[in-house]
Amino acid sequence: MTRRLFVTTALPYANGPFHIGHIMEYIQADTWVRLQRLRGHEVRFVCADDTHGAPIMIAAEKAGQTPQQFVAAVAATRKPMLDGFHIAFDHWHSTDAPENHALARSIYLALREAGLIESRAIEQFFDPAKGMFLADRFVKGECPKCGAKDQYGDNCEACGAVYQPTELKNPYSALSGATPVLRTSEHFFFRLSDPRCVEFLEAWTQDGRLQPEVANKVREWFARDESGRATLGDWDISREAPYFGIEIPDAPGKYFYVWLDAPVGYLASLQALLQSLGIDFEAYLADPALEQVHFIGKDIVTFHTLFWPAMLKFSGRKVPDFVYVHGHLTVSGEKMSKSRGTGISPARWLELGLDAEWLRYYICAKLNARVEDLDFNPEDFVARVNSDLVGKYVNIASRAAGFVGKRFGGRLSADVGVEGRALLDGLRAHAEPVFQLFDSREYGKALREVMLLADRVNEYVDRVKPWELARQPGMDAALHDACTVCLEAFRVLTIYLKPVLPALAAKVEAFLQVPPLQWADAQRSMGAHTVGAWQHLMQRVDPARVEALFEPPAAPAVPAAPLPGGEAIADEIAIGDFAKIDLRIARIVAAEAVEGSTKLLRLTLDVGEGRHRTVFSGIAAHYKPEQLAGRLTVVVANLAPRKMKFGVSEGMVLAASHADEKAEPGVYVLEPWAGAQPGQRVR
Ligand SMILES: [Zn+2]
Repeated sequence: MTRRLFVTTALPYANGPFHIGHIMEYIQADTWVRLQRLRGHEVRFVCADDTHGAPIMIAAEKAGQTPQQFVAAVAATRKPMLDGFHIAFDHWHSTDAPENHALARSIYLALREAGLIESRAIEQFFDPAKGMFLADRFVKGECPKCGAKDQYGDNCEACGAVYQPTELKNPYSALSGATPVLRTSEHFFFRLSDPRCVEFLEAWTQDGRLQPEVANKVREWFARDESGRATLGDWDISREAPYFGIEIPDAPGKYFYVWLDAPVGYLASLQALLQSLGIDFEAYLADPALEQVHFIGKDIVTFHTLFWPAMLKFSGRKVPDFVYVHGHLTVSGEKMSKSRGTGISPARWLELGLDAEWLRYYICAKLNARVEDLDFNPEDFVARVNSDLVGKYVNIASRAAGFVGKRFGGRLSADVGVEGRALLDGLRAHAEPVFQLFDSREYGKALREVMLLADRVNEYVDRVKPWELARQPGMDAALHDACTVCLEAFRVLTIYLKPVLPALAAKVEAFLQVPPLQWADAQRSMGAHTVGAWQHLMQRVDPARVEALFEPPAAPAVPAAPLPGGEAIADEIAIGDFAKIDLRIARIVAAEAVEGSTKLLRLTLDVGEGRHRTVFSGIAAHYKPEQLAGRLTVVVANLAPRKMKFGVSEGMVLAASHADEKAEPGVYVLEPWAGAQPGQRVR
């Protein structure tokens, strides 16, 4: 029976180019989609940019762009990267597209109609300098538990404590440095605590559609209190203007929280695709045979197994059939980190001309159906690709193709004898088990099976020794049979590898002169068919080229590798952006240690204003106070005053350092050439 599948990957946040974690997830999903298509199933495979929310709004402002311009620039980076890794979405959309605005509103209105939306007044931090409410991550201060400084509003990176932003000591706005004030605002909540939601979700999450470890984790959310009520909390789905997002119907100045409209983007992307194909969207979704499948990472399980299915269910829509969760990608056992430079940039992979299918094969060889992290180990990568793909698989064809071309005009023999037939039958018998392993996302096991089959073929070649048959008179028929067996076997293995290696499979199809291979073709032979001229199919991996992945790139602006001064040159700005920063010559009138701080010095500055300013500078580890008094330096004179534990800092002294201030060669305060006067502007 033909399956109808609607498949998505998680929407990437549109604040920058893809990282290797995105590409890993797309490879997993793309492989599965290709497999289903090879079996004749109908698949719609879509994704979109997740464009909304405060981080993008603020990044756009910093870049001097509108949010729309900002996300359009990011969107332009998508297609070359997807094509480069052979990831074949049917459509790539944007959550800021009209379809998504309309769908998000209609889902919200249906939830409101169902009595599942409630408004409540809540107290929240407001930045008086920026004139906006502050999301948790834009409030910083001292941890209420351990006192660590500069912690975010939701949790402490030093001690791990979780708290409300209002509990921070000496809070300040991460956007302006101003001290935030508490203001009341009306927020909208999706009432997940409603017994209807609890009952639905408990059943939906535990009926076998989720991976066992995910279902077990999710079960904890349905813990009951003494009165037997589930403790599932309601979900705050609104944000205050200014916000880049979708305005909530009948609530001017209120916007959907980005996580409300992001998954709706799956449907919006599907709708745009179907429209381009002339297919009715609602009718398509109403088909009871349609299966909706989401591939996601383990960090967004809550959104996809609580909020999203409940949103769909109670707005009268189809709920997801499967949510397939994968772990994260590590590099040589470490979590990726830009600052350590251990990350693999997918852009750099393609720039270096590394074969995208090496990465596809390696990732698939390590993937399984569980929520486990996957490690990219460079030595293992080189060994695996060279041994499996080049040494075992491609080798089969290269050992036979020359003889077929030179001795038999490219023509295969019609029959291959008992031994050859037995070998090929054995290979064909694995079509179903290999398919089942791929279908259940046990890619690593599937590829191990395929490589065991390749071993069998190579053992056959070693036994019959075509190169010796070629030298012996009267052995033409035996040579012809042996080489035909090799190419038939190669074709069967190509079918099994095609979901993972689509571009290589296309080259094989061109060499064999056969139409695009389908899964069922494994059961047929080519017969007395003529193949084309042999061309080299895949290179061995040169370890030096893989090392280059981890070296500093020659040109700037490629992230995820060590860079000059420890960081990339910042995005280009216009002269007007620079002019906003008022830099002045300052005389350091006095410098003193700050009691209770090993980092800060308190500087008294003369900026030619007829008064003195106090500036706290984190240079205590690098300068003694007496080294600084009397010297000239450069200060950012129009920086918003920042309230710190030891007082208010009225500006910032400029100093040169590596991105990691502890790294060599240290920190150096700027000093102008002799003759500069306090108050002069630096431009
Ligand atoms: Zn803490």
